[in-house]
Amino acid sequence: MLDKLVTLPENEVPEWYKKEIDTNKLVQYNAVPPNWKQITEEEFAASKFFVYGFSHTEYRQPIDRKTKEYIGSVKLFYICGRPEGVALQSVYENGKYQLKYYSFAKCVHTWREVNRAGMEELAKQFPKLQGQGTWGNCCHNSVCTKCGDYWFTDSSD
Ligand SMILES: [Zn+2]
Repeated sequence: MLDKLVTLPENEVPEWYKKEIDTNKLVQYNAVPPNWKQITEEEFAASKFFVYGFSHTEYRQPIDRKTKEYIGSVKLFYICGRPEGVALQSVYENGKYQLKYYSFAKCVHTWREVNRAGMEELAKQFPKLQGQGTWGNCCHNSVCTKCGDYWFTDSSD
């Protein structure tokens, strides 16, 4: 079933995705993923979709469990192998095809840029951060204080 839903060979599907399928926390084909929201064309244009690669795609025809609204066919793009991304939908309204844009994320991150001491402090709460960090001029290490996700950017590029 996995091969029908994602465009990557199974051995390249991120481990978190396989785990979420088992637990139905994020990957549930007839439901919208967590923190699903419609965004504007401008927000989509400014999204990570155009900055980073997407690791895999998924096709869904979800129902929003909160509003009971049938969303229709959507194509999800996961950014950088993370449990978050953007989605596109083609809808026929007012006599023409149009696009709708969405974003989703397992966590709505609260990023904090950290130094070495800050990283060590957060590693007590999130053990996966142990040993993380690249330090030096132009190195920016950020950690989500809610889920412990780590993001590195080099501003010298
Ligand atoms: Zn987070």
